[in-house]
Amino acid sequence: MRIAVYSARSYDRTYLTQANERHGHDLEFLDARLAPNTAKLAEGFDAVCPFVNDIADAATIEKLAAVGVKLLTLRSAGFNHIDLDAAVANHLTVARVPAYSPYAVAEHTVGMMLSVERRIHRAYNRVRDGNFSLDGLLGFDLRNKRVGIIGTGRIGQIVARIMRGFGCSMRAYDIRQNDDVRDLGVRYVDLDTLFAECDVITLHCPLTPETHHIINAESLAKMKDGVMIVNTSRGPLIDTQAAIDALKTGKIGNLAIDVYEEEADLFFEDLSDQVITDDVFARLLTFPNVLITAHQAFFTQEALANIAETTLGNATVFERGGRSGNELTPEEVRAPDGAADPA
Ligand code: NAD
Repeated sequence: MRIAVYSARSYDRTYLTQANERHGHDLEFLDARLAPNTAKLAEGFDAVCPFVNDIADAATIEKLAAVGVKLLTLRSAGFNHIDLDAAVANHLTVARVPAYSPYAVAEHTVGMMLSVERRIHRAYNRVRDGNFSLDGLLGFDLRNKRVGIIGTGRIGQIVARIMRGFGCSMRAYDIRQNDDVRDLGVRYVDLDTLFAECDVITLHCPLTPETHHIINAESLAKMKDGVMIVNTSRGPLIDTQAAIDALKTGKIGNLAIDVYEEEADLFFEDLSDQVITDDVFARLLTFPNVLITAHQAFFTQEALANIAETTLGNATVFERGGRSGNELTPEEVRAPDGAADPA
């Protein structure tokens, strides 16, 4: 089928083209972001493939349907940028990539922990500058530290397995406890206990009304002084202003984030020639004990290959009149069993 791939980056072209050798679709790569004013570029296409920062709101979806698009095949797990009610109303099928490589995100999480607490990000620049001083680079052993994992699903579980290898003791909080995680020696506790007992707290739960700002002034007050917070899940899990206040007092000793509350206006773009107008983000950048990556935890060769295969596989199944099981319906998304995880 004819598929218009919006917001196509070089890596999208490479991995989708490779996967397409097995699927034989007619792919057109567009630089443009999908939005109401670019929807008409999809005229003559059967399917559209948007990225997470594209906008498929009701206005866009109506325009896509009007030019004959029948399928939105997302190359992401996340779908909070898609108006599913509008898709149903306009007879568009929406399919996503529910899982591609939990190892990619888990390994990036651990990489961020190590980098921020051993100040590897600072040491890299210092040595290139000919500054071989160790002042300000003092870290701590992870061995025997207590790590708290909030959300022990696919990614949180792998983080637990890796941290066990470091000799950490582990606590976890999840609304659904998992025996495989217990078998790793992880003890499930309530949130307040996790906040009070852990040296490192890492977030691997979805963004829901319950988890929005789960790290806030109140929860931070319950934590150990100098706690490390790691977030590779979703930006709004952390109240950024509260985190900044806690960094200033030393309550947070290390902060590592791959996601940010207002990242849609920043991440995935090269803004190096522009002034950053987000003052909260700019403040975060001033702390020596804050490490930020721009939503790259998923970004491995294996994950991109899996994403491309599932994205095009979903289109192939749709073309043949079948169901892949990756289709999203508003009912499934609103079901209380967590199907709505907007990764
Ligand atoms: P998953 O669905 O396998 O696991 C999520 C876990 O969180 C589940 O065990 C669930 O029970 C638990 N949970 C749900 N509500 C909770 C709550 N209120 N409190 C505590 N736990 C709760 O998801 P996953 O594949 O492990 O992904 C975890 C998160 O990682 C995603 O939600 C997504 O936001 C993020 N993610 C980030 C990237 C990236 O590139 N940075 C890539 C993929 C996913």
